[in-house]
Amino acid sequence: MTRSFRETLAANLARVRERIEEAARRAGRRAEEVRLVAVTKYVDVPVIEELYELGLRDFGESRPQSLWEKQPRLAGDVRWHLIGSWQTNKVRRTIPLVELVHSIDRAALAELVSAEAVRAGRKLDVLLEVKLAADESKHGYRPDDLRREFDQLRALPGMEVRGLMTMASLTADEGEIRTTFAQLRSLRDELREHARLEAPWGWLSMGMSHDFEIAIEEGATHVRVGSSLFEGILDD
Ligand SMILES: *Cc1c(COP(=O)(O)O)cnc(C)c1O
Repeated sequence: MTRSFRETLAANLARVRERIEEAARRAGRRAEEVRLVAVTKYVDVPVIEELYELGLRDFGESRPQSLWEKQPRLAGDVRWHLIGSWQTNKVRRTIPLVELVHSIDRAALAELVSAEAVRAGRKLDVLLEVKLAADESKHGYRPDDLRREFDQLRALPGMEVRGLMTMASLTADEGEIRTTFAQLRSLRDELREHARLEAPWGWLSMGMSHDFEIAIEEGATHVRVGSSLFEGILDD
């Protein structure tokens, strides 16, 4: 690996951390309240190892198969996040490898995940994915469905529901993005109240390279950042 490659990656990471800090400061929050999940779906293991050397421990993959492939090749203290859609036939093999699943988006999946986690002797931390953007391509619960199903989801024995996740539309309209993230936060507040949970219950996984600052201003606890980390490294 060339020196300039390392330097580029280190500079990108430093810049992302700075942007997180600035956004947190603007919102009167502390940067430590925001976990940076490096989305490694674009890169192979040597690049991830470099990010590990730079101090990152939280890595996210959107495809379970990529997670299966990469997880055994990285150190044991890496926390793997599954952030993309999860087909039921990929649940069993993924459960032992993940720290947090961001993308529980339907009852059938939740029930299977819970059953498989119980079978594996685990209680798996998960986030419920919410579809707020108009985008037909987005996965997730509609807010009303989630309001209806929330108690049942929380009662599943193999899952610990830690909060919510969403994706904003791919748009240049900042106001629209902010509205989406603010909606996720109010839905979290509403569910918290409804279930008589107390703060800090309710992680909010929201924000990607182009919108994570807005997400932090609106309360994100986890940002999922890929391309900003790999600028100048990927040839696209
Ligand atoms: C790819 C991906 C990201 C990262 O997106 P970037 O724009 O590259 O930062 C975040 N979340 C999900 C669900 C993704 O699939």
